[in-house]
Amino acid sequence: MIIGQILKSKGRGVMTARPEDTIQEIALRLSSRKIGAILILGDSENVVGIISERDIIRLIAEHGAAALTMLARDGMTRDVVSCTREHTLDEIMETMTKGRFRHIPVVENGTLIGIISIGDVVKHHTAEVELEVSAMRGYLATG
Ligand code: AMP
Repeated sequence: MIIGQILKSKGRGVMTARPEDTIQEIALRLSSRKIGAILILGDSENVVGIISERDIIRLIAEHGAAALTMLARDGMTRDVVSCTREHTLDEIMETMTKGRFRHIPVVENGTLIGIISIGDVVKHHTAEVELEVSAMRGYLATG
């Protein structure tokens, strides 16, 4: 399975914010949308960073309540690993495992077209495994 197929079923909607937004604004958006990460876009709508709930916890641990008035640009991860529609589910699983993160933006010609979370990966991987199991059962039954 490739990432383009997953995007077709889940849609291209991605929650984004700006480098000038405060951590409190970002926490509010993560909470109201029940999501774990938000992508930070620059002036030309390119991905310049990502902030996940883990970053917010780290900022609060380091700065206390002052973390809430800090800006996204001061707490975001800047070297964002992205993928394309052509990447496979297996490749994305490996990238998330090796990089120890749970979100990967999907980018095409420099434009953000979606995001894949660990939840999407688990859902589609499980479906793939179930399909394989039922194919094997069919094969064994007819063999
Ligand atoms: P997560 O597991 O996605 O909540 O993120 C854990 C840490 O990895 C946080 O510091 C995130 O900012 C960072 N992170 C999340 N996704 C990515 C990504 N695609 N590329 C680089 N860093 C990431």
